[in-house]
Amino acid sequence: MAASQAFSDPVATALARAMPIFAQPYQGTSGDIDEFLGSRDRNALLVGSNGVFMGITRPWLIAVLPIMTAAVPAPYGSVAPRLTLRCGRIPAHLVDQARQMFVDALPNEAAAFIIWNEPAREFRLERAGELSATPSRIEYLLPDLGDGDFIVADMHSHGTAPAFWSQTDDADDRNHTRICAVFGSLDVSNPASFTAKSRICANGLTLDIPALPVLQEPVLR
Ligand SMILES: [Zn+2]
Repeated sequence: MAASQAFSDPVATALARAMPIFAQPYQGTSGDIDEFLGSRDRNALLVGSNGVFMGITRPWLIAVLPIMTAAVPAPYGSVAPRLTLRCGRIPAHLVDQARQMFVDALPNEAAAFIIWNEPAREFRLERAGELSATPSRIEYLLPDLGDGDFIVADMHSHGTAPAFWSQTDDADDRNHTRICAVFGSLDVSNPASFTAKSRICANGLTLDIPALPVLQEPVLR
Protein backbone atom coordinates (compact mmCIF):
# COMPACT_ATOMS: atom_id res chain seq x y z
CA MET A 1 0.00 0.00 0.00
CA ALA A 2 1.11 3.53 -0.63
CA ALA A 3 1.59 5.74 2.40
CA SER A 4 -1.35 8.15 2.70
CA GLN A 5 0.99 11.12 2.20
CA ALA A 6 -1.50 13.76 3.27
CA PHE A 7 0.42 16.30 5.33
CA SER A 8 -0.63 19.52 7.11
CA ASP A 9 1.09 21.58 4.42
CA PRO A 10 -0.41 21.41 0.90
CA VAL A 11 2.94 21.93 -0.83
CA ALA A 12 4.50 19.11 1.19
CA THR A 13 1.54 16.92 0.27
CA ALA A 14 1.86 17.76 -3.44
CA LEU A 15 5.61 17.03 -3.39
CA ALA A 16 5.08 13.71 -1.60
CA ARG A 17 2.34 12.70 -4.04
CA ALA A 18 4.71 13.39 -6.93
CA MET A 19 6.98 10.70 -5.44
CA PRO A 20 4.85 8.22 -3.49
CA ILE A 21 6.32 5.37 -1.43
CA PHE A 22 5.33 1.82 -2.33
CA ALA A 23 6.25 -1.21 -0.24
CA GLN A 24 7.16 -4.45 -2.03
CA PRO A 25 4.90 -7.17 -0.59
CA TYR A 26 6.57 -10.11 1.15
CA GLN A 27 4.57 -12.38 -1.11
CA GLY A 28 1.94 -11.90 -3.76
CA THR A 29 1.66 -8.74 -5.81
CA SER A 30 0.99 -5.04 -5.28
CA GLY A 31 -1.59 -3.35 -7.46
CA ASP A 32 0.06 0.01 -6.71
CA ILE A 33 3.47 -1.20 -7.92
CA ASP A 34 1.99 -2.93 -10.98
CA GLU A 35 0.10 0.26 -11.88
CA PHE A 36 3.22 2.34 -11.32
CA LEU A 37 5.43 0.11 -13.50
CA GLY A 38 2.81 0.32 -16.26
CA SER A 39 2.64 4.13 -16.13
CA ARG A 40 4.22 6.44 -18.72
CA ASP A 41 5.68 9.26 -16.67
CA ARG A 42 5.88 8.84 -12.91
CA ASN A 43 8.40 8.68 -10.08
CA ALA A 44 8.19 6.66 -6.87
CA LEU A 45 10.26 5.24 -4.04
CA LEU A 46 10.04 1.46 -3.71
CA VAL A 47 10.83 0.00 -0.29
CA GLY A 48 11.81 -3.62 0.13
CA SER A 49 13.70 -5.92 2.50
CA ASN A 50 16.85 -5.11 0.53
CA GLY A 51 16.59 -1.32 0.66
CA VAL A 52 15.09 1.72 -0.99
CA PHE A 53 14.91 2.07 -4.77
CA MET A 54 14.10 4.96 -7.11
CA GLY A 55 11.40 4.00 -9.59
CA ILE A 56 11.11 6.01 -12.81
CA THR A 57 8.77 5.49 -15.74
CA ARG A 58 8.95 7.33 -19.00
CA PRO A 59 7.42 6.47 -22.39
CA TRP A 60 10.84 5.02 -23.35
CA LEU A 61 12.04 3.71 -19.98
CA ILE A 62 11.24 1.72 -16.86
CA ALA A 63 13.99 1.99 -14.22
CA VAL A 64 14.18 0.71 -10.65
CA LEU A 65 17.55 1.79 -9.30
CA PRO A 66 19.03 1.20 -5.84
CA ILE A 67 19.60 4.28 -3.70
CA MET A 68 19.90 2.86 -0.18
CA THR A 69 20.75 -0.57 1.24
CA ALA A 70 18.69 -1.76 4.19
CA ALA A 71 20.69 -1.80 7.45
CA VAL A 72 18.12 -4.12 9.01
CA PRO A 73 15.77 -6.52 7.22
CA ALA A 74 12.31 -5.01 6.80
CA PRO A 75 9.28 -7.33 6.61
CA TYR A 76 8.83 -6.79 2.89
CA GLY A 77 9.74 -8.57 -0.30
CA SER A 78 12.94 -7.98 -2.21
CA VAL A 79 12.82 -5.22 -4.84
CA ALA A 80 14.38 -6.28 -8.15
CA PRO A 81 16.54 -3.59 -9.76
CA ARG A 82 15.55 -3.04 -13.34
CA LEU A 83 16.47 -1.06 -16.42
CA THR A 84 14.09 -1.66 -19.29
CA LEU A 85 14.28 0.30 -22.52
CA ARG A 86 10.69 0.38 -23.74
CA CYS A 87 12.05 1.92 -26.93
CA GLY A 88 14.34 -1.07 -27.52
CA ARG A 89 18.11 -0.98 -27.97
CA ILE A 90 19.80 2.02 -29.51
CA PRO A 91 20.92 1.06 -33.03
CA ALA A 92 24.70 0.68 -32.95
CA HIS A 93 25.17 2.47 -36.28
CA LEU A 94 23.83 5.73 -34.78
CA VAL A 95 26.43 5.53 -32.04
CA ASP A 96 29.12 4.86 -34.67
CA GLN A 97 27.92 7.92 -36.61
CA ALA A 98 28.07 10.02 -33.45
CA ARG A 99 31.63 8.91 -32.78
CA GLN A 100 32.63 9.82 -36.35
CA MET A 101 30.90 13.19 -35.88
CA PHE A 102 33.06 13.73 -32.79
CA VAL A 103 36.24 12.75 -34.67
CA ASP A 104 35.33 15.20 -37.45
CA ALA A 105 34.91 17.97 -34.86
CA LEU A 106 38.47 17.54 -33.48
CA PRO A 107 40.29 19.28 -31.92
CA ASN A 108 37.08 20.61 -30.36
CA GLU A 109 34.57 18.80 -28.24
CA ALA A 110 31.14 18.11 -29.75
CA ALA A 111 27.79 16.71 -28.62
CA ALA A 112 24.87 14.78 -30.07
CA PHE A 113 21.54 13.29 -29.06
CA ILE A 114 19.83 9.99 -29.78
CA ILE A 115 16.13 10.82 -30.10
CA TRP A 116 13.35 8.22 -30.20
CA ASN A 117 10.02 8.96 -31.83
CA GLU A 118 7.34 6.92 -30.14
CA PRO A 119 4.61 6.85 -32.86
CA ALA A 120 7.13 5.86 -35.56
CA ARG A 121 9.18 3.78 -33.10
CA GLU A 122 12.29 5.14 -34.80
CA PHE A 123 15.59 6.45 -33.50
CA ARG A 124 17.55 9.29 -35.03
CA LEU A 125 20.85 11.03 -34.35
CA GLU A 126 20.98 14.81 -34.04
CA ARG A 127 24.11 16.88 -33.56
CA ALA A 128 23.74 19.42 -30.74
CA GLY A 129 23.73 23.10 -31.54
CA GLU A 130 26.79 24.65 -29.91
CA LEU A 131 26.95 27.84 -27.87
CA SER A 132 30.71 27.39 -27.66
CA ALA A 133 33.18 24.58 -28.24
CA THR A 134 36.89 24.30 -27.47
CA PRO A 135 39.24 21.28 -27.11
CA SER A 136 38.39 21.14 -23.40
CA ARG A 137 34.85 22.45 -23.03
CA ILE A 138 31.51 22.56 -24.81
CA GLU A 139 28.25 24.31 -24.11
CA TYR A 140 25.41 22.95 -26.18
CA LEU A 141 21.70 23.38 -26.73
CA LEU A 142 18.94 20.86 -26.26
CA PRO A 143 17.32 19.75 -29.53
CA ASP A 144 13.89 20.92 -30.66
CA LEU A 145 11.62 17.97 -30.02
CA GLY A 146 8.55 17.21 -32.13
CA ASP A 147 5.41 15.34 -31.10
CA GLY A 148 6.29 11.95 -29.67
CA ASP A 149 10.03 12.71 -29.56
CA PHE A 150 12.05 11.73 -26.48
CA ILE A 151 15.75 12.19 -25.77
CA VAL A 152 17.07 8.73 -24.96
CA ALA A 153 20.81 9.46 -24.98
CA ASP A 154 22.91 12.57 -24.56
CA MET A 155 26.47 12.07 -25.84
CA HIS A 156 29.47 14.36 -25.89
CA SER A 157 33.14 14.09 -26.62
CA HIS A 158 36.23 14.98 -24.64
CA GLY A 159 38.27 15.35 -27.85
CA THR A 160 41.68 13.76 -27.44
CA ALA A 161 41.36 13.65 -23.63
CA PRO A 162 40.15 10.40 -22.06
CA ALA A 163 36.47 9.62 -21.38
CA PHE A 164 35.57 10.34 -17.76
CA TRP A 165 32.77 12.07 -15.86
CA SER A 166 33.85 15.62 -15.16
CA GLN A 167 32.35 17.79 -12.43
CA THR A 168 30.57 19.71 -15.21
CA ASP A 169 29.13 16.44 -16.54
CA ASP A 170 27.96 15.47 -13.04
CA ALA A 171 26.27 18.85 -12.58
CA ASP A 172 24.64 18.73 -16.05
CA ASP A 173 23.43 15.15 -15.65
CA ARG A 174 21.71 15.79 -12.34
CA ASN A 175 18.77 17.52 -13.96
CA HIS A 176 17.33 15.02 -16.38
CA THR A 177 16.44 11.41 -17.04
CA ARG A 178 18.34 9.90 -19.94
CA ILE A 179 21.34 7.79 -20.87
CA CYS A 180 24.54 9.80 -20.96
CA ALA A 181 27.75 8.87 -22.73
CA VAL A 182 31.14 10.46 -23.13
CA PHE A 183 33.69 9.56 -25.82
CA GLY A 184 37.36 10.41 -25.43
CA SER A 185 40.88 9.60 -26.63
CA LEU A 186 39.67 10.33 -30.17
CA ASP A 187 42.30 10.12 -32.90
CA VAL A 188 41.77 11.32 -36.51
CA SER A 189 44.35 8.85 -37.83
CA ASN A 190 42.72 5.96 -35.97
CA PRO A 191 38.95 6.53 -35.51
CA ALA A 192 38.53 3.09 -33.92
CA SER A 193 40.79 4.10 -31.05
CA PHE A 194 38.67 5.72 -28.37
CA THR A 195 37.50 5.38 -24.80
CA ALA A 196 33.87 5.63 -23.73
CA LYS A 197 31.74 5.68 -20.63
CA SER A 198 27.97 5.37 -20.30
CA ARG A 199 25.55 5.82 -17.47
CA ILE A 200 21.86 6.13 -16.73
CA CYS A 201 20.92 9.47 -15.20
CA ALA A 202 17.56 9.62 -13.47
CA ASN A 203 16.25 12.22 -11.07
CA GLY A 204 19.73 13.12 -9.87
CA LEU A 205 20.85 9.52 -9.60
CA THR A 206 23.65 8.23 -11.84
CA LEU A 207 24.60 4.62 -12.39
CA ASP A 208 27.31 3.39 -14.77
CA ILE A 209 26.18 0.90 -17.41
CA PRO A 210 27.95 -1.04 -20.17
CA ALA A 211 28.83 0.64 -23.47
CA LEU A 212 25.96 2.17 -25.45
CA PRO A 213 25.70 -0.23 -28.41
CA VAL A 214 25.33 -3.24 -26.15
CA LEU A 215 22.46 -1.79 -24.18
CA GLN A 216 19.91 -4.45 -23.54
CA GLU A 217 17.71 -5.56 -20.74
CA PRO A 218 18.33 -6.49 -18.06
CA VAL A 219 21.52 -4.52 -17.56
CA LEU A 220 21.21 -4.68 -13.79
CA ARG A 221 21.32 -7.90 -11.83
ZN1 LIG B 1 32.37 15.68 -20.22
